[in-house]
Amino acid sequence: MLEDKDRIFKNLYNDEGSDLLSAKKRGDWSKTKEVCEKGREWIINEIKVSELRGRGGAGFPTGLKWSFAPKEIGSRPHYLVINADESEPGTCKDRDILRFEPHKLIEGCLIASFAVNAHTCYIYIRGEYFNEGAKLQKAIDEAYENGLVGKNASGTGWDFDIYIHYGAGAYICGEETALLESLEGKKGQPRLKPPFPALIGLYGCPTIINNVETISVVPTILRRGAKWFSSIGRAKNTGTKIYCISGNVNNPCNVEEQMGIPLKDLIEKHAGGVVGGWDNLKAVIPGGSSMPLLPKQICDTIKMDFDECIENQTGLGTAGIVVINCDQDIIKCMARIARFYKHESCGQCTPCREGSGWMWRMLERMSRGEATRDEVDLLMDVTKQIEGHTICAFGEGSAWPVQGLIRNFKEEIIKRNNINPIFEEKKDIPYLIDQHLLEKENA
Ligand code: SF4
Repeated sequence: MLEDKDRIFKNLYNDEGSDLLSAKKRGDWSKTKEVCEKGREWIINEIKVSELRGRGGAGFPTGLKWSFAPKEIGSRPHYLVINADESEPGTCKDRDILRFEPHKLIEGCLIASFAVNAHTCYIYIRGEYFNEGAKLQKAIDEAYENGLVGKNASGTGWDFDIYIHYGAGAYICGEETALLESLEGKKGQPRLKPPFPALIGLYGCPTIINNVETISVVPTILRRGAKWFSSIGRAKNTGTKIYCISGNVNNPCNVEEQMGIPLKDLIEKHAGGVVGGWDNLKAVIPGGSSMPLLPKQICDTIKMDFDECIENQTGLGTAGIVVINCDQDIIKCMARIARFYKHESCGQCTPCREGSGWMWRMLERMSRGEATRDEVDLLMDVTKQIEGHTICAFGEGSAWPVQGLIRNFKEEIIKRNNINPIFEEKKDIPYLIDQHLLEKENA
Protein backbone atom coordinates (compact mmCIF):
# COMPACT_ATOMS: atom_id res chain seq x y z
CA MET A 1 0.00 0.00 0.00
CA LEU A 2 1.15 3.52 -0.76
CA GLU A 3 2.34 5.48 2.24
CA ASP A 4 0.86 8.95 2.78
CA LYS A 5 4.28 10.57 2.43
CA ASP A 6 4.53 9.24 -1.13
CA ARG A 7 1.09 10.47 -2.19
CA ILE A 8 1.22 13.06 -4.99
CA PHE A 9 -2.47 14.02 -5.10
CA LYS A 10 -3.18 15.09 -1.54
CA ASN A 11 -6.50 16.73 -2.35
CA LEU A 12 -8.08 13.96 -4.43
CA TYR A 13 -11.20 14.00 -2.23
CA ASN A 14 -11.37 17.80 -1.90
CA ASP A 15 -10.65 17.75 1.82
CA GLU A 16 -8.67 20.96 1.36
CA GLY A 17 -9.22 23.77 -1.13
CA SER A 18 -8.22 23.76 -4.79
CA ASP A 19 -7.26 27.47 -4.67
CA LEU A 20 -3.71 28.74 -5.02
CA LEU A 21 -3.09 29.28 -1.31
CA SER A 22 -4.17 25.74 -0.41
CA ALA A 23 -2.22 24.33 -3.37
CA LYS A 24 0.94 26.11 -2.20
CA LYS A 25 0.47 24.62 1.28
CA ARG A 26 0.55 21.21 -0.36
CA GLY A 27 3.86 22.08 -2.01
CA ASP A 28 2.72 23.17 -5.47
CA TRP A 29 4.61 26.02 -7.17
CA SER A 30 7.64 25.60 -4.94
CA LYS A 31 11.09 25.54 -6.59
CA THR A 32 9.49 25.90 -10.06
CA LYS A 33 12.11 28.47 -11.03
CA GLU A 34 14.97 26.33 -9.68
CA VAL A 35 13.72 23.31 -11.64
CA CYS A 36 13.62 25.29 -14.89
CA GLU A 37 17.06 26.78 -14.20
CA LYS A 38 18.51 23.28 -14.41
CA GLY A 39 17.71 23.33 -18.12
CA ARG A 40 15.70 21.41 -20.67
CA GLU A 41 18.05 18.48 -21.00
CA TRP A 42 18.16 17.93 -17.26
CA ILE A 43 14.35 17.97 -17.04
CA ILE A 44 13.89 15.53 -19.93
CA ASN A 45 16.60 13.25 -18.62
CA GLU A 46 15.14 13.27 -15.11
CA ILE A 47 11.73 12.28 -16.48
CA LYS A 48 13.41 9.50 -18.48
CA VAL A 49 15.18 8.22 -15.35
CA SER A 50 11.92 8.28 -13.40
CA GLU A 51 10.50 5.87 -16.03
CA LEU A 52 7.22 7.76 -16.02
CA ARG A 53 4.88 6.28 -18.62
CA GLY A 54 1.88 8.13 -20.04
CA ARG A 55 -1.23 7.82 -17.87
CA GLY A 56 -3.73 8.31 -20.70
CA GLY A 57 -3.86 4.67 -21.78
CA ALA A 58 -0.97 3.85 -24.12
CA GLY A 59 1.77 3.95 -21.45
CA PHE A 60 4.39 5.52 -23.74
CA PRO A 61 7.53 6.74 -21.89
CA THR A 62 7.02 10.46 -21.26
CA GLY A 63 10.67 11.56 -21.28
CA LEU A 64 11.22 9.81 -24.60
CA LYS A 65 8.17 11.53 -26.09
CA TRP A 66 9.49 14.94 -25.01
CA SER A 67 12.87 14.18 -26.55
CA PHE A 68 11.19 13.91 -29.99
CA ALA A 69 10.46 17.65 -29.99
CA PRO A 70 13.05 19.61 -32.03
CA LYS A 71 15.87 20.89 -29.79
CA GLU A 72 15.62 24.43 -31.15
CA ILE A 73 12.63 26.51 -32.20
CA GLY A 74 12.79 26.85 -35.99
CA SER A 75 10.45 28.80 -38.23
CA ARG A 76 7.40 27.21 -36.60
CA PRO A 77 6.34 27.60 -32.95
CA HIS A 78 6.09 24.56 -30.68
CA TYR A 79 2.94 23.65 -28.78
CA LEU A 80 2.06 21.61 -25.73
CA VAL A 81 -1.43 20.12 -25.82
CA ILE A 82 -3.03 18.52 -22.78
CA ASN A 83 -5.53 15.76 -23.43
CA ALA A 84 -8.32 16.32 -20.90
CA ASP A 85 -10.96 14.70 -23.12
CA GLU A 86 -11.48 11.94 -20.59
CA SER A 87 -14.16 9.83 -22.30
CA GLU A 88 -13.17 6.22 -21.70
CA PRO A 89 -16.11 4.52 -19.94
CA GLY A 90 -15.12 3.62 -16.39
CA THR A 91 -12.57 6.43 -16.14
CA CYS A 92 -12.91 9.60 -14.06
CA LYS A 93 -9.43 10.33 -12.67
CA ASP A 94 -8.55 13.44 -14.71
CA ARG A 95 -11.83 14.97 -13.65
CA ASP A 96 -10.76 15.00 -10.01
CA ILE A 97 -7.38 16.49 -10.90
CA LEU A 98 -9.05 19.23 -12.94
CA ARG A 99 -11.41 20.23 -10.15
CA PHE A 100 -9.43 19.46 -6.99
CA GLU A 101 -5.76 19.71 -8.01
CA PRO A 102 -5.74 22.18 -10.95
CA HIS A 103 -2.51 23.88 -9.86
CA LYS A 104 -0.56 20.63 -10.16
CA LEU A 105 -1.63 20.49 -13.81
CA ILE A 106 -0.88 24.16 -14.53
CA GLU A 107 2.58 23.97 -12.94
CA GLY A 108 3.25 20.77 -14.89
CA CYS A 109 2.18 22.52 -18.09
CA LEU A 110 4.69 25.31 -17.48
CA ILE A 111 7.59 22.90 -16.82
CA ALA A 112 6.70 20.59 -19.73
CA SER A 113 6.26 23.55 -22.11
CA PHE A 114 9.65 24.87 -21.06
CA ALA A 115 11.19 21.43 -21.66
CA VAL A 116 9.78 21.12 -25.19
CA ASN A 117 10.26 24.78 -26.15
CA ALA A 118 6.58 25.65 -26.27
CA HIS A 119 5.35 29.12 -25.32
CA THR A 120 1.71 28.09 -25.69
CA CYS A 121 -0.30 25.29 -24.14
CA TYR A 122 -3.85 24.25 -24.96
CA ILE A 123 -5.87 22.12 -22.60
CA TYR A 124 -8.49 20.23 -24.62
CA ILE A 125 -11.24 19.38 -22.16
CA ARG A 126 -14.35 17.33 -22.87
CA GLY A 127 -17.45 19.49 -23.29
CA GLU A 128 -19.34 17.74 -20.50
CA TYR A 129 -16.67 18.78 -17.99
CA PHE A 130 -18.13 22.28 -17.86
CA ASN A 131 -17.83 22.76 -14.10
CA GLU A 132 -14.36 21.22 -14.07
CA GLY A 133 -13.33 23.60 -16.86
CA ALA A 134 -14.67 26.56 -14.86
CA LYS A 135 -12.61 25.50 -11.83
CA LEU A 136 -9.53 25.06 -13.98
CA GLN A 137 -10.04 28.50 -15.55
CA LYS A 138 -10.29 30.02 -12.08
CA ALA A 139 -6.96 28.41 -11.18
CA ILE A 140 -5.39 29.64 -14.45
CA ASP A 141 -6.59 33.18 -13.67
CA GLU A 142 -5.03 32.92 -10.20
CA ALA A 143 -1.76 31.75 -11.74
CA TYR A 144 -1.76 34.72 -14.16
CA GLU A 145 -2.56 37.20 -11.38
CA ASN A 146 0.36 35.91 -9.32
CA GLY A 147 2.88 35.88 -12.18
CA LEU A 148 3.16 32.09 -12.16
CA VAL A 149 2.22 31.93 -15.84
CA GLY A 150 2.23 34.64 -18.52
CA LYS A 151 5.25 36.85 -19.25
CA ASN A 152 8.39 35.65 -17.45
CA ALA A 153 6.36 32.83 -15.88
CA SER A 154 7.39 32.17 -12.26
CA GLY A 155 10.53 34.27 -12.84
CA THR A 156 11.96 31.67 -15.21
CA GLY A 157 12.41 34.13 -18.05
CA TRP A 158 10.08 31.95 -20.13
CA ASP A 159 6.89 33.50 -21.56
CA PHE A 160 4.07 31.04 -21.30
CA ASP A 161 0.35 31.23 -22.12
CA ILE A 162 -2.27 28.63 -21.39
CA TYR A 163 -5.77 28.25 -22.87
CA ILE A 164 -8.71 25.91 -22.35
CA HIS A 165 -10.60 24.54 -25.36
CA TYR A 166 -13.88 22.66 -24.87
CA GLY A 167 -14.64 19.62 -27.03
CA ALA A 168 -18.14 18.71 -28.16
CA GLY A 169 -18.48 15.26 -26.62
CA ALA A 170 -17.01 12.86 -29.19
CA TYR A 171 -15.07 9.91 -27.73
CA ILE A 172 -12.71 9.79 -30.71
CA CYS A 173 -11.39 13.29 -29.93
CA GLY A 174 -9.41 11.62 -27.13
CA GLU A 175 -7.25 10.12 -29.89
CA GLU A 176 -4.40 12.61 -30.14
CA THR A 177 -4.57 13.46 -33.83
CA ALA A 178 -8.39 13.65 -33.84
CA LEU A 179 -7.97 16.00 -30.89
CA LEU A 180 -5.65 18.20 -32.95
CA GLU A 181 -8.10 18.26 -35.85
CA SER A 182 -10.88 19.27 -33.49
CA LEU A 183 -8.67 21.93 -31.89
CA GLU A 184 -8.03 23.35 -35.35
CA GLY A 185 -11.81 23.67 -35.80
CA LYS A 186 -12.25 20.67 -38.08
CA LYS A 187 -14.18 17.41 -37.78
CA GLY A 188 -12.51 15.28 -35.10
CA GLN A 189 -11.12 12.43 -37.21
CA PRO A 190 -7.73 10.78 -36.61
CA ARG A 191 -4.86 11.53 -38.98
CA LEU A 192 -2.69 8.95 -40.69
CA LYS A 193 0.67 8.59 -38.94
CA PRO A 194 3.48 9.29 -39.79
CA PRO A 195 4.05 12.20 -39.64
CA PHE A 196 3.80 12.18 -35.87
CA PRO A 197 2.62 15.26 -33.97
CA ALA A 198 6.03 15.81 -32.34
CA LEU A 199 7.18 17.08 -35.76
CA ILE A 200 3.95 17.99 -37.54
CA GLY A 201 1.13 18.51 -35.09
CA LEU A 202 -1.13 21.44 -34.27
CA TYR A 203 -1.33 23.82 -37.28
CA GLY A 204 1.50 21.79 -38.83
CA CYS A 205 3.87 22.72 -35.98
CA PRO A 206 5.85 20.50 -33.53
CA THR A 207 3.42 19.45 -30.80
CA ILE A 208 3.72 17.30 -27.70
CA ILE A 209 0.46 15.84 -26.42
CA ASN A 210 0.17 14.49 -22.88
CA ASN A 211 -2.59 13.30 -20.59
CA VAL A 212 -3.68 15.37 -17.54
CA GLU A 213 -2.41 12.89 -14.94
CA THR A 214 0.95 12.49 -16.69
CA ILE A 215 1.67 16.22 -16.64
CA SER A 216 0.30 16.71 -13.13
CA VAL A 217 2.86 14.34 -11.57
CA VAL A 218 5.84 15.99 -13.31
CA PRO A 219 6.49 18.85 -10.82
CA THR A 220 6.54 16.46 -7.84
CA ILE A 221 8.91 14.07 -9.64
CA LEU A 222 11.31 16.91 -10.41
CA ARG A 223 11.14 18.27 -6.86
CA ARG A 224 11.53 14.93 -5.10
CA GLY A 225 13.82 13.34 -7.67
CA ALA A 226 13.48 10.67 -10.34
CA LYS A 227 14.96 8.05 -8.02
CA TRP A 228 12.15 8.54 -5.50
CA PHE A 229 9.51 8.00 -8.20
CA SER A 230 11.24 5.00 -9.73
CA SER A 231 11.62 3.40 -6.28
CA ILE A 232 7.83 2.93 -6.19
CA GLY A 233 6.53 -0.06 -8.18
CA ARG A 234 8.92 -2.09 -10.33
CA ALA A 235 11.16 -1.41 -13.34
CA LYS A 236 9.33 0.18 -16.29
CA ASN A 237 6.16 0.25 -14.15
CA THR A 238 7.10 2.92 -11.67
CA GLY A 239 5.42 5.51 -9.51
CA THR A 240 1.91 6.08 -8.32
CA LYS A 241 -1.30 5.89 -10.31
CA ILE A 242 -4.87 6.99 -9.81
CA TYR A 243 -7.16 3.96 -10.14
CA CYS A 244 -10.89 4.44 -10.74
CA ILE A 245 -12.99 1.60 -9.35
CA SER A 246 -16.64 1.32 -10.35
CA GLY A 247 -19.33 -1.24 -11.16
CA ASN A 248 -20.52 -3.86 -8.67
CA VAL A 249 -18.50 -2.67 -5.68
CA ASN A 250 -19.78 -1.35 -2.38
CA ASN A 251 -17.79 1.88 -2.49
CA PRO A 252 -16.92 3.12 -6.00
CA CYS A 253 -13.93 5.45 -5.73
CA ASN A 254 -10.81 7.00 -7.17
CA VAL A 255 -7.66 6.15 -5.25
CA GLU A 256 -3.98 6.94 -5.72
CA GLU A 257 -1.93 3.82 -5.15
CA GLN A 258 1.46 2.45 -6.08
CA MET A 259 1.86 0.91 -9.50
CA GLY A 260 1.60 -2.86 -9.25
CA ILE A 261 -0.88 -3.04 -6.36
CA PRO A 262 -2.88 -6.30 -6.47
CA LEU A 263 -6.26 -5.83 -8.13
CA LYS A 264 -7.88 -7.69 -5.25
CA ASP A 265 -6.50 -5.15 -2.74
CA LEU A 266 -7.88 -2.26 -4.76
CA ILE A 267 -11.34 -3.79 -4.82
CA GLU A 268 -11.42 -5.22 -1.29
CA LYS A 269 -9.52 -2.55 0.65
CA HIS A 270 -10.42 0.63 -1.22
CA ALA A 271 -13.73 -0.03 -2.95
CA GLY A 272 -15.46 -1.88 -0.10
CA GLY A 273 -15.41 -5.25 -1.86
CA VAL A 274 -17.52 -6.86 -4.55
CA VAL A 275 -21.29 -6.64 -4.06
CA GLY A 276 -22.20 -10.11 -2.78
CA GLY A 277 -18.61 -10.93 -1.75
CA TRP A 278 -15.43 -11.86 -3.60
CA ASP A 279 -16.87 -15.24 -4.63
CA ASN A 280 -19.67 -13.40 -6.43
CA LEU A 281 -17.10 -11.81 -8.77
CA LYS A 282 -17.49 -12.73 -12.42
CA ALA A 283 -15.02 -10.53 -14.28
CA VAL A 284 -13.18 -7.23 -14.19
CA ILE A 285 -12.45 -4.78 -16.98
CA PRO A 286 -9.07 -3.46 -15.78
CA GLY A 287 -8.35 -0.40 -17.92
CA GLY A 288 -11.47 1.27 -19.25
CA SER A 289 -14.01 -0.30 -21.59
CA SER A 290 -11.57 -0.80 -24.47
CA MET A 291 -9.47 -3.36 -22.60
CA PRO A 292 -10.26 -7.11 -22.58
CA LEU A 293 -11.96 -8.30 -19.41
CA LEU A 294 -10.33 -10.66 -16.93
CA PRO A 295 -12.11 -13.70 -15.45
CA LYS A 296 -12.21 -14.15 -11.66
CA GLN A 297 -9.34 -16.66 -11.47
CA ILE A 298 -6.93 -14.07 -12.89
CA CYS A 299 -8.39 -11.28 -10.73
CA ASP A 300 -7.46 -13.33 -7.65
CA THR A 301 -3.76 -12.70 -8.20
CA ILE A 302 -3.05 -10.10 -10.89
CA LYS A 303 -1.09 -6.96 -10.03
CA MET A 304 -2.11 -3.73 -11.68
CA ASP A 305 0.72 -2.46 -13.83
CA PHE A 306 1.37 -2.13 -17.56
CA ASP A 307 3.44 -5.26 -18.07
CA GLU A 308 1.51 -7.66 -15.86
CA CYS A 309 -1.72 -6.69 -17.61
CA ILE A 310 -0.14 -7.39 -21.00
CA GLU A 311 1.13 -10.76 -19.74
CA ASN A 312 -2.51 -11.57 -18.95
CA GLN A 313 -3.78 -10.58 -22.40
CA THR A 314 -5.26 -7.26 -21.34
CA GLY A 315 -4.03 -3.72 -20.72
CA LEU A 316 -3.76 -1.25 -17.84
CA GLY A 317 -5.19 1.43 -20.16
CA THR A 318 -6.54 4.30 -18.10
CA ALA A 319 -6.76 2.10 -14.96
CA GLY A 320 -10.54 2.48 -15.07
CA ILE A 321 -11.51 -0.72 -13.26
CA VAL A 322 -15.07 -1.92 -13.87
CA VAL A 323 -16.16 -4.75 -11.59
CA ILE A 324 -18.82 -7.15 -12.91
CA ASN A 325 -20.39 -9.61 -10.49
CA CYS A 326 -22.34 -12.82 -11.10
CA ASP A 327 -25.66 -10.93 -10.97
CA GLN A 328 -24.86 -9.40 -14.36
CA ASP A 329 -25.42 -10.82 -17.82
CA ILE A 330 -21.86 -10.70 -19.14
CA ILE A 331 -22.89 -11.08 -22.80
CA LYS A 332 -25.32 -8.18 -22.46
CA CYS A 333 -22.62 -6.07 -20.77
CA MET A 334 -20.27 -6.62 -23.70
CA ALA A 335 -23.06 -5.98 -26.22
CA ARG A 336 -23.62 -2.62 -24.53
CA ILE A 337 -19.94 -1.77 -24.81
CA ALA A 338 -19.95 -2.84 -28.48
CA ARG A 339 -22.90 -0.51 -29.08
CA PHE A 340 -20.92 2.36 -27.59
CA TYR A 341 -18.04 1.75 -30.01
CA LYS A 342 -20.39 1.40 -32.96
CA HIS A 343 -21.84 4.79 -32.06
CA GLU A 344 -18.46 6.50 -31.56
CA SER A 345 -16.60 5.22 -34.66
CA CYS A 346 -15.59 8.23 -36.75
CA GLY A 347 -16.34 6.24 -39.91
CA GLN A 348 -13.13 6.78 -41.86
CA CYS A 349 -12.04 3.11 -42.01
CA THR A 350 -14.35 0.40 -43.34
CA PRO A 351 -13.28 -2.35 -40.88
CA CYS A 352 -14.06 -0.10 -37.91
CA ARG A 353 -17.16 1.60 -39.31
CA GLU A 354 -18.84 -1.62 -40.49
CA GLY A 355 -17.21 -4.12 -38.14
CA SER A 356 -18.20 -2.30 -34.95
CA GLY A 357 -21.85 -2.53 -36.03
CA TRP A 358 -21.50 -6.22 -36.95
CA MET A 359 -20.00 -7.02 -33.56
CA TRP A 360 -22.77 -5.19 -31.74
CA ARG A 361 -25.56 -6.87 -33.70
CA MET A 362 -24.03 -10.34 -33.29
CA LEU A 363 -23.59 -9.82 -29.55
CA GLU A 364 -27.18 -8.67 -29.22
CA ARG A 365 -28.31 -11.87 -30.91
CA MET A 366 -26.03 -13.93 -28.69
CA SER A 367 -27.36 -12.26 -25.56
CA ARG A 368 -30.89 -13.23 -26.63
CA GLY A 369 -29.85 -16.79 -27.46
CA GLU A 370 -30.57 -16.31 -31.16
CA ALA A 371 -27.08 -16.80 -32.57
CA THR A 372 -26.25 -19.59 -34.96
CA ARG A 373 -23.43 -22.07 -34.47
CA ASP A 374 -20.96 -20.47 -36.81
CA GLU A 375 -21.43 -16.98 -35.41
CA VAL A 376 -19.20 -17.47 -32.39
CA ASP A 377 -16.15 -18.17 -34.55
CA LEU A 378 -17.29 -15.61 -37.09
CA LEU A 379 -17.45 -12.95 -34.38
CA MET A 380 -13.86 -13.72 -33.36
CA ASP A 381 -12.90 -13.52 -37.03
CA VAL A 382 -14.52 -10.08 -37.35
CA THR A 383 -12.49 -8.81 -34.38
CA LYS A 384 -9.31 -10.04 -36.09
CA GLN A 385 -10.29 -8.28 -39.32
CA ILE A 386 -10.65 -5.00 -37.45
CA GLU A 387 -7.57 -5.31 -35.20
CA GLY A 388 -4.51 -3.83 -36.90
CA HIS A 389 -6.38 -2.78 -40.04
CA THR A 390 -7.45 0.74 -39.14
CA ILE A 391 -6.03 4.26 -38.99
CA CYS A 392 -6.18 4.57 -35.22
CA ALA A 393 -6.30 2.37 -32.11
CA PHE A 394 -10.07 2.74 -31.84
CA GLY A 395 -10.25 -0.40 -34.01
CA GLU A 396 -8.42 -2.42 -31.36
CA GLY A 397 -10.39 -0.68 -28.61
CA SER A 398 -13.65 -1.93 -30.10
CA ALA A 399 -12.38 -5.44 -30.93
CA TRP A 400 -10.49 -6.31 -27.72
CA PRO A 401 -13.46 -6.37 -25.32
CA VAL A 402 -15.24 -8.79 -27.66
CA GLN A 403 -12.13 -10.97 -27.88
CA GLY A 404 -11.93 -10.97 -24.08
CA LEU A 405 -15.53 -12.16 -23.86
CA ILE A 406 -15.06 -15.00 -26.35
CA ARG A 407 -11.72 -16.04 -24.84
CA ASN A 408 -13.11 -16.29 -21.32
CA PHE A 409 -16.85 -16.88 -21.64
CA LYS A 410 -17.25 -18.90 -24.83
CA GLU A 411 -18.94 -21.72 -22.95
CA GLU A 412 -21.57 -19.33 -21.64
CA ILE A 413 -22.31 -18.08 -25.15
CA ILE A 414 -22.56 -21.65 -26.44
CA LYS A 415 -24.87 -22.65 -23.60
CA ARG A 416 -27.14 -19.63 -24.03
CA ASN A 417 -27.49 -20.26 -27.73
CA ASN A 418 -28.05 -24.02 -27.44
CA ILE A 419 -25.06 -24.73 -29.64
CA ASN A 420 -23.76 -28.27 -29.54
CA PRO A 421 -20.15 -28.06 -28.35
CA ILE A 422 -19.13 -31.29 -30.14
CA PHE A 423 -18.55 -29.12 -33.20
CA GLU A 424 -15.82 -27.24 -31.37
CA GLU A 425 -13.44 -30.01 -32.45
CA LYS A 426 -14.60 -29.96 -36.06
CA LYS A 427 -13.57 -26.46 -37.03
CA ASP A 428 -12.45 -27.56 -40.51
CA ILE A 429 -15.88 -28.93 -41.41
CA PRO A 430 -17.90 -26.39 -43.42
CA TYR A 431 -20.89 -24.94 -41.66
CA LEU A 432 -23.51 -26.67 -43.80
CA ILE A 433 -22.08 -30.09 -42.97
CA ASP A 434 -22.14 -29.14 -39.29
CA GLN A 435 -25.77 -28.23 -39.67
CA HIS A 436 -26.49 -31.54 -41.32
CA LEU A 437 -24.70 -33.47 -38.59
CA LEU A 438 -26.55 -31.52 -35.94
CA GLU A 439 -29.89 -32.28 -37.48
CA LYS A 440 -28.96 -35.96 -37.68
CA GLU A 441 -27.91 -36.03 -34.07
CA ASN A 442 -31.05 -34.26 -32.88
CA ALA A 443 -33.28 -36.61 -34.86
FE1 SF4 B 1 -12.16 6.40 -37.29
FE2 SF4 B 1 -12.42 3.89 -36.39
FE3 SF4 B 1 -10.73 4.44 -38.34
FE4 SF4 B 1 -10.19 5.32 -35.88
S1 SF4 B 1 -10.30 3.18 -36.51
S2 SF4 B 1 -9.99 6.45 -37.78
S3 SF4 B 1 -12.30 5.75 -35.16
S4 SF4 B 1 -12.97 4.65 -38.40
